[in-house]
Amino acid sequence: MNEANNWVEKSKKHLWLPFTQMKDYEENPLIIAEGEGVYLTDVHGKKYLDGYSSLWLNVHGHRKREIDEAIIEQLQKISHSTLLGATNIPATELAEKLVEITPENLTRVFYSDSGAEAVEIALKLAFQYWRNLGHSSKQKFVTTKNGYHGDTVGAISVGAVDIFHTVYHPLMFDSYKVSFPNAYRNEHSDLEDVKNECLLEIEQLFAEKHEEIAAFIIEGMIQGAGGMNVMPDGYLKGIEQLCKKYNILLIVDEVATGFGRTGKMFSVEHENVQPDLMTIAKGITGGYLPIAATMTSEKVYEAFYGDYTELKTFFHGHSYTGNQLGCAAALANLELYKKEDIINTVQNKADFIAEKLQSLQELEHVGDIRQLGLMVGVELVKDKETKEPFPWGDRVGYYATLKMRDLGMLSRPLGDVVVFMPPLATTFEELEQMITIMKQAIKETTEVLAT
Ligand code: PLP
Repeated sequence: MNEANNWVEKSKKHLWLPFTQMKDYEENPLIIAEGEGVYLTDVHGKKYLDGYSSLWLNVHGHRKREIDEAIIEQLQKISHSTLLGATNIPATELAEKLVEITPENLTRVFYSDSGAEAVEIALKLAFQYWRNLGHSSKQKFVTTKNGYHGDTVGAISVGAVDIFHTVYHPLMFDSYKVSFPNAYRNEHSDLEDVKNECLLEIEQLFAEKHEEIAAFIIEGMIQGAGGMNVMPDGYLKGIEQLCKKYNILLIVDEVATGFGRTGKMFSVEHENVQPDLMTIAKGITGGYLPIAATMTSEKVYEAFYGDYTELKTFFHGHSYTGNQLGCAAALANLELYKKEDIINTVQNKADFIAEKLQSLQELEHVGDIRQLGLMVGVELVKDKETKEPFPWGDRVGYYATLKMRDLGMLSRPLGDVVVFMPPLATTFEELEQMITIMKQAIKETTEVLAT
């Protein structure tokens, strides 16, 4: 057996992969050995375009010299030490930089290791904030239908993508789930009306239940894992205003949308929203190391400040919280945003792909193309007129992305929605290549399934 096949056999024998039916993996194994720019190479030497930024987080491509060097430099000082009640230099420097680039009201940074944990922290902080202020009845969370905030128990309790959560219902706590203004799957033709109805539903809930609601949690400007559903203009702003009116904290989850993905550094900038808490992860280190953070306003921070014996302290933290290597990578990453003017380039690339993606509309089974910045979802349907989906068992999204893999590009489906979320540094030429592959794969897959 050659070395590559040996790796494959070992992976099949011992590994258990995230969000993966291992029977699928056994049939279609993939082991990445190397990366360079927007390309990944597997153990057999086959090259793929990284069409979903290695799970939505790669920014500058793989093996970016500046980030590699920053990590090596930090390694030569210290790689890790978490001491409770102490911190380190890169974590301190990064906190200052994060406060500079996030909305003005956010002044505090609580580190963690993943997006889901940043969400857990936001939930615990919001819950304890009210308790610390003597409003213990405010314990519940409100979230949007089809929202996604990670896979830990707290995060799934405020999540609403059924397929990920159904099995775990008995483990979860209750939260209110309000309608989302979905432009494609809505009876109404006027999106403005749909948006207003959704805001009214929230207002009615708040009016009745505000004394038991701690916080509203929502993704920034676009639902990601729920199918790439873009929020209509004014919706997030409307939620911010209602939260203020009814004394409810607003948590915006920027784990997927942060760090330029939507064409602004953070998506809240599109509507000048200032959340009380904001979660960030994924692109924070350019896609290198697992750092995440929950940012809060001074108002939230102050509610936790006081004598230890008052039990106001935030009891949370993990072994790797504020890891030096991760923070050093994040600092180098943020430098690159300035040096390479990343945000402006994203805007141009977003316009470019919007035009190129139009050609997918001519395919018989492309029902909808949704895009914000470099976040794209292509929804496949059996019948374009009626928007009838393909049967569940057809797994059209899955097979379309497998076909893309054959053709030299990696992505992942969200049900029947094919995701296109390239690294922000992808060149115009590479973007065009990726769209061509996506089109070809969708065409071939849907033609077979539709017969
Ligand atoms: N929040 C949002 C909006 C996400 O899209 C994700 C992951 O995709 C998460 C939280 C969870 O992040 P992580 O996978 O780093 O735990």
